[in-house]
Amino acid sequence: MRAWTLGSGSRGNAIVIECGSTRILVDAGYPARTLARRLATANIAPESISAVVVTHEHIDHSRGVAPAHARWAWQVFGTAGTLAGIDALPTGSRQAIEPGTPFAVGDFDITLVRVPHDATAPTAVLLTGRQSGFRAAVAHDLGMVPDGLRGALSDLDLLLLESNHDDHMLRTGPYPAFLQQRIASRTGHLSNHQTAELVGGLKVATLSALVLLHLSEKNNTPGIATASAKQALQRAGGRCPVTAAPQGDIAGPYGDVHRRPQQLALAI
Ligand SMILES: [Zn+2]
Ligand SMILES: [Zn+2]
Repeated sequence: MRAWTLGSGSRGNAIVIECGSTRILVDAGYPARTLARRLATANIAPESISAVVVTHEHIDHSRGVAPAHARWAWQVFGTAGTLAGIDALPTGSRQAIEPGTPFAVGDFDITLVRVPHDATAPTAVLLTGRQSGFRAAVAHDLGMVPDGLRGALSDLDLLLLESNHDDHMLRTGPYPAFLQQRIASRTGHLSNHQTAELVGGLKVATLSALVLLHLSEKNNTPGIATASAKQALQRAGGRCPVTAAPQGDIAGPYGDVHRRPQQLALAI
């Protein structure tokens, strides 16, 4: 199992997760030509992607969904509320998913988990490889971590998690007060501090990569965000690399795990 970020932040989000021969895109917040160009850098043919799972309808996550479907016929999955907010998506192309109810795409079993954010019905995405048992999660655009998600993030192989802002930089930065309040609210975005608090309480022995998502370009820096998350990861006993996903380019592959230690033990 491995992942690439095609870009992450308020100007666009898209993440490729690969397990076995199946590739899924989580969010498509770039025009189709940008998706095609960034995928080409990693030698990923758009046609090799089976589906796009959309976390919520905000334009930085959904801008390319309908054009990409028109071009490459990707199936589109998301909550009914999310899909209703995406324009120009033909009815036959999309499948509404109830949070908490697993669905299958290729080698993946996928579950959407509700998160608090100022969109219609936003979710995080949990992905399990059916053959391998590898587990990954993508959680961005959430103002706080609900218990239902917290419990699902232990014992993962790959975690891609929002670390949007540094509290001090947000308070003293260029944003007007109403926007600062929106970002820091329970339906806004996770701060470095909230992310560290979450990571510090997880079981992380199997984690092969922690990727920080949706960093604010005005109210955060990759150095501050990764230092904070690294400290929390070490406190929890984790040793894997911690990387901040860039906004303007593809990055990865992250992870690239082939076999879990306990499966190795069983095979001997
Ligand atoms: Zn966003
Ligand atoms: Zn959003």
